[in-house]
Amino acid sequence: MITGKNYIGNELSSIGSDTYKTFDPKLNLETEWTFYEATKEEIDKAVGKAHEAFQTYKKFSGAKKAGFLEAIAEEIEALGDELIQTYCKESGLPEGRAVGERGRTMGQLRAFAQLLKEGSWVEATIDTAQPDRQPMAKTDLRKMLLPIGPIAVFGSSNFPFAFSTAGGDTASALASGCSVIVKSHPMHAGTGELVSSAVIKAAERNGMPDGIFSNLNSSGIEVGQQLVLHPKVKGVGFTGSIKGGTALYKLANERKEPIPVFAEMGSINPVVVLPSALREKGLDWAKQYAGSVMMGAGQFCTNPGLILGIKSTSLDVFINALGEEIDKLEPSCMLHPNIYNNYEKGKKELSGQGGADVVAEYEKAVAPNYAKQKVLTVNGANFLKNPKLHQEVFGPFSIVVRCADAKEMTEVLNRLEGQLTGTILGNSDELKTYSSALDALQGRVGRLIFNGVPTGVEVCPSMQHGGPFPASTDSRFTSVGVSAVKRWVRPVSFQNWPQELLPEELQNENPLAIMRIVDSEHTNKKIE
Ligand code: NAP
Repeated sequence: MITGKNYIGNELSSIGSDTYKTFDPKLNLETEWTFYEATKEEIDKAVGKAHEAFQTYKKFSGAKKAGFLEAIAEEIEALGDELIQTYCKESGLPEGRAVGERGRTMGQLRAFAQLLKEGSWVEATIDTAQPDRQPMAKTDLRKMLLPIGPIAVFGSSNFPFAFSTAGGDTASALASGCSVIVKSHPMHAGTGELVSSAVIKAAERNGMPDGIFSNLNSSGIEVGQQLVLHPKVKGVGFTGSIKGGTALYKLANERKEPIPVFAEMGSINPVVVLPSALREKGLDWAKQYAGSVMMGAGQFCTNPGLILGIKSTSLDVFINALGEEIDKLEPSCMLHPNIYNNYEKGKKELSGQGGADVVAEYEKAVAPNYAKQKVLTVNGANFLKNPKLHQEVFGPFSIVVRCADAKEMTEVLNRLEGQLTGTILGNSDELKTYSSALDALQGRVGRLIFNGVPTGVEVCPSMQHGGPFPASTDSRFTSVGVSAVKRWVRPVSFQNWPQELLPEELQNENPLAIMRIVDSEHTNKKIE
């Protein structure tokens, strides 16, 4: 049942008087639920509890933490249809998407549990003492990754499950040994509360300290700002706009003790269509890309917002086919009127730029909050001189750039801001001919795709979801896949430390039988 209250650890709280409601974009009406804005007192209490809980939780074994993560997945599933229906109501997304995203969220939690049970992720590195080394004795040094403290997680609008309350940021932070305070996304606060109830149940079932997880409601930016500025918060996870992510990043860096902010933000995901792809499969690619631009009403951070080709008749054929294919598809509902209005504004602004011609624009009447798709085309020179055209328009929108030649295409790629993905359509021989373009693309993105579409982010250890700024604030890390745990830890060395006081991961006996680097050898053997 949705109460509209805040979870301050295990306690449901509503001491404030400011409230807000969520919105059903399909009905174009507010929902029946009312949510209590978290107050300063509630924020302090949640962070205080998270700080206390961290002191206990950080010492729990990997197996105990894994049990907690698995229980969260079970409890989310046990919420059944109420959760799915709430998700659909607050997001306008279809039931199939809700069920799929819930599966992905449970899969993420279980993947982190597996990582903890195996245990080697802590990068235990040991250099044993050499008392007889000349000219100086070498002391015993042992290093591993340890959690940094309470983490503030900002739920995203476009993934109410997978990048929100118990999504990738929360799952990875809990896996690392950190406690979590979620700033719930105001567009799906009911979904967030239900998922929070599952996390709290799992915490109670598994003997977790009160405060290991809190969920704060808020419809404005103050609660998030106070969380980021709170001295006991030690890191931030964020998915959303460039404006929001950079504001929080700046705030965190202005603190007396600056803290890391891992923000995953905007991306237009350039796609380079090489001549062989246009010649041999142009119509197929046009159809696939129409589907990719339209997927989820274009509300994916990996949506292909920019397609680059070299001027030719076959590029013209591709562009026409893309226009025809995208026109055949039915528009779908966006997440919220605010997102819809941003989309309309962005679309209008970019359509009005000099040299931009319309390839396709859906013209039939649609219900409120349904996004009408649009594709523009512009030549390389116009694109290069106008940075407005490089901006993300969050929705079913894309620009095809007709480059004069390979040199201009490379220049376009070099001038782009950092991106999550970059795609090449072509054959492997062309990768040699267009090596400069490929190099330029590699320098700008976190994930390179060959003959595919960027939408669809597999959750697995080799996934990289993050790229040079502004795709993310730190391109060395990923927000998807088990490596995401590395964002919430720091290396600590123990010098000449008594065996019995060392973490198990670093003890001679290697009781967890994890892989370690011992005197430069990668091994799971004990130290004799
Ligand atoms: P958002 O505006 O960045 O908000 C995300 C979360 O951060 C919300 O909880 C928001 O709080 C909070 N927030 C934003 N600015 C803040 C600030 N200055 N200080 C403290 N907290 C702040 O993103 P959104 O609501 O998800 O969607 C808005 C637009 O962001 C979309 O139209 C789209 O352009 C873009 N977006 C991009 C991606 C992507 O993956 N590229 C994903 C989602 C959204 P409040 O809502 O309570 O103010």
